[in-house]
Amino acid sequence: MNTGDWFVMGVDLGSTTAKAAVVDSGGALRGADVVQMGAVSPAAVAHAIEGALRAAGVAGSDIRRTISTGYGRKLVPGADRSFTEITCHARGAAALHPGVRLVIDIGGQDSKAIIVDDAGLVDRFAMNDRCASGTGRFFDVLARALEVDVEAVGELALSGCDDLEVSSMCATFAETEVISLLAQGRAKADIAASVHRAVAARTLGLVAQVGKASPAVMTGGVAKNPAALHYVSRALGRQVELLEQPQIAGAYGAGLLARDEYLGAAGSTGGRDAAAENQVMATASAVTPHCVDCDGELDHAPHKAPAPIALELRRSIR
Ligand code: ADP
Repeated sequence: MNTGDWFVMGVDLGSTTAKAAVVDSGGALRGADVVQMGAVSPAAVAHAIEGALRAAGVAGSDIRRTISTGYGRKLVPGADRSFTEITCHARGAAALHPGVRLVIDIGGQDSKAIIVDDAGLVDRFAMNDRCASGTGRFFDVLARALEVDVEAVGELALSGCDDLEVSSMCATFAETEVISLLAQGRAKADIAASVHRAVAARTLGLVAQVGKASPAVMTGGVAKNPAALHYVSRALGRQVELLEQPQIAGAYGAGLLARDEYLGAAGSTGGRDAAAENQVMATASAVTPHCVDCDGELDHAPHKAPAPIALELRRSIR
């Protein structure tokens, strides 16, 4: 279809999924796709791009600019430029939920708390990439140990009682602990609920690095887990809003940045201190989170979140 309109694309190559979003000249999301990967893969990116174009009914030749983001953003073929996930999730979330102030992005291998301004620019953020707890990987481990799909572990948790003590917040040991709780005859639903409660406490520790703010939304694949949303809301003491397509918030944000650039607004788009974000992301752990002396008591002491990197971004770039 060529209506004379033009389009741009955002591509988010994460640690577990490739996402692509087609954005039209007015900034509306026209189509998106999410492709599950075994490992970071150019083929998955190509599938996501094809899927998003198909969903939008748009030809690749109608795409005027492409911006990449995500853990593998430098590996996206054909991208004109890349931005960090922090910038792109902030921008995408602000478009999906106008007025949002706090974005909690929980992906496959890291989690971030981002304070956003009126324009969807990053004001400050904190990131945990050092420990799998509080990331999608932790829920993947939980689901595997409970022998349920990760897509179903949230509903299971919501049907359970969350009063079991979860002493290990280390993904390496969590599987063993879950198996041990199962051996004690604990119900799967109760184990799932208690682990979600414990992970939410870890997320709250991350939010404390930037300060609570409302309205709050969750982005990333874990936002599709209804129990994650419920327990993070409960830990925060306020409702975290559900986005319609939380997993593609970063790709959509990248698409909106591509649109800004195409319209000639480059320089006003990359967050207040994109260089500082890039620096933090460059030091983010590669491949999988690694342990940093977790004492296993974080369920009871969320303030001991493992060394998230909090960074005050300068308010100099408007
Ligand atoms: P990344 O960008 O790092 O690849 P994503 O934002 O795509 O990560 O999130 C991936 C994580 O989201 C998975 O590890 C999984 O735990 C979780 N996830 C994905 N889809 C669902 C779903 N339908 N229900 C619950 N959790 C989900």
